[in-house]
Amino acid sequence: MGFDIADKLAQERRARLAAERLLAQKQSELFSANSRLGKHARALSDEIVEKRLEVRSARTQAEQLKGEKSQVLSELRTAENKVQIAERRLWDSIQSIQDGFAVFDSNSRLVAANNAYMATFDGLEEIRVGVKYNRVLQLVAEEGIVDIGNATRAEWCARMLERWHEPEIREETIQLWNGHYIKLIERRAEGGDTVTLALNITATIRYEAELKAAREKAEAANRAKSAFLANMSHEIRTPMNGVIGMADLLQDTDLSEEQKLYIQTIRHSGEALLVIINDILDYSKIEAEKLTLNPEPFSFEAVVNETVTLLSPSAQDKGLELRVENTLPEDAHFVGDPGRLRQVLTNLIGNAVKFTSDGFIRIGVHATPSRNPKKQKVHIEIEDTGIGISKEHAEFIFGEFNQVDGDHNRKFEGTGLGLAITKQLVELMSGKIWVESSEGNGSTFHVILDLPTSAPRGNAKTEISKTVEVPAKPQIEARRLRVLAAEDNGTNRLVFSKMVRNLDIELEFAVNGREAVEAFSQFKPDLVFMDISMPEVDGKEATRQIREHEKAAGKAPTPIIALTAHALDTDKAEMLAAGLDEYSTKPLRKNEIYKFIEKYAPKDVRPALQNVLSPNADLVS
Ligand code: ADP
Repeated sequence: MGFDIADKLAQERRARLAAERLLAQKQSELFSANSRLGKHARALSDEIVEKRLEVRSARTQAEQLKGEKSQVLSELRTAENKVQIAERRLWDSIQSIQDGFAVFDSNSRLVAANNAYMATFDGLEEIRVGVKYNRVLQLVAEEGIVDIGNATRAEWCARMLERWHEPEIREETIQLWNGHYIKLIERRAEGGDTVTLALNITATIRYEAELKAAREKAEAANRAKSAFLANMSHEIRTPMNGVIGMADLLQDTDLSEEQKLYIQTIRHSGEALLVIINDILDYSKIEAEKLTLNPEPFSFEAVVNETVTLLSPSAQDKGLELRVENTLPEDAHFVGDPGRLRQVLTNLIGNAVKFTSDGFIRIGVHATPSRNPKKQKVHIEIEDTGIGISKEHAEFIFGEFNQVDGDHNRKFEGTGLGLAITKQLVELMSGKIWVESSEGNGSTFHVILDLPTSAPRGNAKTEISKTVEVPAKPQIEARRLRVLAAEDNGTNRLVFSKMVRNLDIELEFAVNGREAVEAFSQFKPDLVFMDISMPEVDGKEATRQIREHEKAAGKAPTPIIALTAHALDTDKAEMLAAGLDEYSTKPLRKNEIYKFIEKYAPKDVRPALQNVLSPNADLVS
């Protein structure tokens, strides 16, 4: 029994052990199942978290989109509002402007127009959106809304329509029935539309007219002032003529050295004064638009040489070298006004001498090609080694009364008109003038003239021969040369008579044009010296009358030489047209009178000049 119990116990122990093993096994199975389950549960929960996140982000996105949509919608609404406001403002503005505004479509039909535009048509029913442009034109012409001038209605409409169809429509100013001026400005817009702006420019036009009238008045006043200046200079010249003429005559009398000096001083001062008066006169003539050029064939070389000869004594006095470099072809012949060219050169070379104390003055004359085959360009350079002109001053020196203001310049005399006149003369000759200079380094003045060329003439020189040919055997039995001088000024008559007192002539005076015409038929002069400005009948008119007498009597014209005081009546062409043969400017110069006598005395009279020297013996320029 004990065995059984022990067995039983052993069996039980075994059974318990087995049961415990089974339990342990089950427990481990359970544990692993648990841990698998746990893992799975974790994976599941991870997945849930992930899904939840996804769901949340999807929701946020959806919400964001929703927000954006409503923002877009509200922005759209604001934009729409803004467009409406802008459109209303634009239209309000267009309506509020005083000028007409209209838009036509590509078929020229009215799309829109503001009140100002419509008001022009004064309630015409037909003028409304949809009306065609050509109909608008017809209506305004028919109703007399627009002033169509001398054109017919059809012509006016056709012209306006033609204009309307131009690719770029020209501006046009029309006048309305009420006197208003309307400027039409049209522009092509996108899609073939045409935008019209009708500006009321009545005030501007009136203002312009007022300005124009004011300007004309001012210009007339300026011309009157210039004419006054010219006349005044003329008046000053006449007594100066007496002063210089008398000094001239006095010089030929017996004088002590001291007296000679006094006379020379009077002459020099008188001539210096004449230079100033001439400057003022020329300038006023240019201003009064009275200065004209007298073109004729001339020798450029001769003009340059004469000017240089005239100025070389003053250059020599200052120890300056005066060089001429003339490369003009020898056969070059020009047409121009030699007197005015001489004036230009004298001014420029004179200034070069004036403003240079040592060194040289170079006058270069060169031909440069001209575009016009009938012309030749001439480039003149006047270079000096003088005081020079600073850049700032160089801009102004061609203006009137402009002198470079500096201490060193005070010592130079001058009116400051020389370069202003020179520039105007060069421009009158269609030329150009400029200066290259810097202070202290001398100056170079450049002039370019484009002059017509002329065929060379057999004897280009018009001056009379330099020596007087005195016939070997004077014909004593021949009559004396009869000279008539018409001159209203007593001093000038005295000067004239003194100047010719040594000549073998018969001299008679007339104190005005009327007397000159009378004396002409009674005295029958061989030569007439005719003052131009005289009371009653002036010199031009007297000459005209004399020419008529001669024509009626079938006589050859008598030489008549005009004596002018270089004033406004010196237009050479005008004088030649009046029948005068030549003209000479005052002050009278003995040699000039002699030259004319020599040139025009008929062969069958006694030689007038046989007791005097050659006319060139003491030539006064
Ligand atoms: P004016 O010689 O009578 O003073 P211009 O009109 O001829 O008048 O000249 C104006 C100014 O230009 C002169 O006063 C001078 O200052 C300046 N100028 C002209 N030519 C020269 C020159 N060759 N060198 C230096 N300065 C000059």
